[in-house]
Amino acid sequence: MISSTCESSASHTQDCTTRRSTCPRLSVGAVPARDGRDLSGGYNGSPRGLPHSVHVDDEPCTDSLHAEETALLNAAYHGVSSRGTALYCTHSPCKACTGRIINVAVVAVVYALPYRSDAGLARLAVAGVLVEKLQEAGCLPTEA
Ligand SMILES: [Zn+2]
Ligand SMILES: [Zn+2]
Repeated sequence: MISSTCESSASHTQDCTTRRSTCPRLSVGAVPARDGRDLSGGYNGSPRGLPHSVHVDDEPCTDSLHAEETALLNAAYHGVSSRGTALYCTHSPCKACTGRIINVAVVAVVYALPYRSDAGLARLAVAGVLVEKLQEAGCLPTEA
């Protein structure tokens, strides 16, 4: 069952993971949770130990893994399956990330802010993944 209340530890954790982002364009966090418990956490940034280049224009970032895939990879690193989890995200996932999300059998995505493209949400809908947008203002990371 999806929890979209401020009591959700996942929604708080996603806020914490966001602060670790190494990409200056956008700070994103994601947390897969099962039965209300966080399994891992991820933020967008360069692969482990690698530097992040300076963005000079609005071209898409080619350095970073996205928070959603980092969160799923971190769970896998620890031998934890993300199957059947709800993935709490600061932003709606991009289309590429939804491929990972669908194939590890995440059953629900809960997000706070819309990403610049809604192609990911459209694909999740086609795949039958439940999607919920957080409504509580206290849970929302600030856009700026
Ligand atoms: Zn970047
Ligand atoms: Zn993505």
